[in-house]
Order: sequence, then structure tokens, then C-alpha cells
Amino acid sequence: MMTQAPEHVLGVHVSTAGGLPTAVGRAQRLGCRAFQLFTANPRQWALQPVAPDTAEAFRRAVQESGITTVVSHAGYLLNLASPRPELVQKSLAALRAECERCRQLGIPLLVLHPGSCPADQRFEGLRRVAEALRTVLQSSDATLTLCLELTAGQGNAIGSSLEELAILRESSSCPERLGVCVDTCHALAAGYRLDTEEGYSAFWTRFEELFGREALRVLHLNDSAYPAASGRDRHAHIGLGHCGIGCFARLLGDPRWRPIPMILETPKGKDDRADRLNLTVLRYLAAGEELTADMLHVLWSQYHGSV
Ligand SMILES: [Zn+2]
Ligand SMILES: [Zn+2]
Repeated sequence: MMTQAPEHVLGVHVSTAGGLPTAVGRAQRLGCRAFQLFTANPRQWALQPVAPDTAEAFRRAVQESGITTVVSHAGYLLNLASPRPELVQKSLAALRAECERCRQLGIPLLVLHPGSCPADQRFEGLRRVAEALRTVLQSSDATLTLCLELTAGQGNAIGSSLEELAILRESSSCPERLGVCVDTCHALAAGYRLDTEEGYSAFWTRFEELFGREALRVLHLNDSAYPAASGRDRHAHIGLGHCGIGCFARLLGDPRWRPIPMILETPKGKDDRADRLNLTVLRYLAAGEELTADMLHVLWSQYHGSV
């Protein structure tokens, strides 16, 4: 059996069906060193604090698991950029609740999408997000890092360029508590050519100019079902989409990002077989092995899921 290169922190977004502590076992069974979860239903507004015994059981399970990094992803309803003030207020309250749940669960990283607003109000949208982030950072636990995710730009989503994320980060009161999450599918869909050697290198050069290396806190490893610059956010299995296997070979072989948690958010089937196959691909690349299209097809040939 191939062993994962010790320096890569590979993980998967796992379900919490059956309770938050069950997520830890799911990640463990996949041999992950990291995982991501929603600490609450991502399509629901009302967020209660976590019950103290659940929080305790979760922390204990993580401690005993050997998993080094847990990442929370904020709910889908949040929109800090909305032109509707009541929606911004609701989003702000929900984000505060997300932060509180992270504190209870001992989770240090919370990924969120900046939000969306009509195209002709981009500037106002950015301003509203910046303001909301300032407010939340002031009131949340200092050990929590909010990670702004680069978006595909679908549905007038803000944050589909590194420059926009940099504006948000710089205008916050404490940029050191505002990290960045790069999603490979979103980057490609937003027009960053991670599928080519030159595009890959240009993207990270720009990233380092704008943020510095230490700002990257989470990587979402997803291939893209749609071509570069499509503006469409649809994840595909690693190596089977438009990012291509080369994109992930470069990423896994790039010593700059080796310590960064790399989380799969690829399509799932009825069981965890798709996650296992994607992890196998990543581990192969992490070991510096070359993976051809033929080999990928052999690997997936027995899988009758949503490939
Ligand atoms: Zn993502
Ligand atoms: Zn996505």
C-alpha cells in the first residue's frame, strides 16, 4: 500500500450525519490528516450554539484521531454583500454564530464566500463585505482565522479575482486573521489558467505579490466540470475535468504549499468510494509519481457514480 508523504495534509469535506463527532471517524477511515465540515445545516439560518457535551465529544475525537487540521465551511445562505440591509444583518448574525461554534469545537479555520451582489454594485458590495468582516473579526475569538474563498464568479459572486480578495483583506482591521482559501475549480472557472504551466506559475506569483505566502490557509482541491473562464462552479473528480491532472501534479509537487491543508470537495456517491479514489490520485501525485490519462481511466473504470 502506498503511504502518504508525511508532509502533505490531505483531507476531505465529510458529512456530519449522525452528529458532529461522527465526522472525525469518517475522515479517519479515509486516512486523512485533515477534514472540513459544516458545523450546522448549510441551508438553514437559525444557528444554535453546540451542546456542550457534543462539543466535548468532538474535541476529544479530534485529539485522539491524529488529525492535525479541522476546517469549518460557513453556510450557503450568508451574503455579506447583499444590497438588502436586513439580509446583511442576518448574515452577520449567522457568521457570528458560525464563529462561536468554531470556538466551542476548537476549530481554528472558517472558510467563507464573500457574497454576491448585482454586477453594477460591485463596489458597494465589496464595501459591505469589508465592513462586516471588520465587525466580525473584532467580536470573534482571536484564535480563529477567517478564510476568504476565491470564487468562480457564478451568480455575480464577489471574490472571483485575487485583487478583490486582497482589497477585502487589506481593508479589514486585522489582515493577519483573514486568510485565503484557494479552490482550484473556482480559480480555473474564474479564468486563472491552472491547467497550464505558465498559468499556474503566474497565478501563484500574483498571489504572493498580493498576500504573501503565509496568507494561504486552505486549498480546496477540485477539478472543474466546465472550461477555464466559464464562470461556472461545478466540481469534478481530480484529473477528470478541465483543470487536468497536471494542475494537481504541480500543486502536490510545489513545496510552498506542502504544509497547507488540501481538502477535496469532489462529487460523492452513495458511499465513500469516490473520496477514496480521489485521495488515491492525490497520494500518487504527492509521492511524485506520474499519472497518465489511461491510468486514471483504469482507476475509475469500476466506479459507477457521477463521473
Ligand atoms: Zn471550495
Ligand atoms: Zn465550488
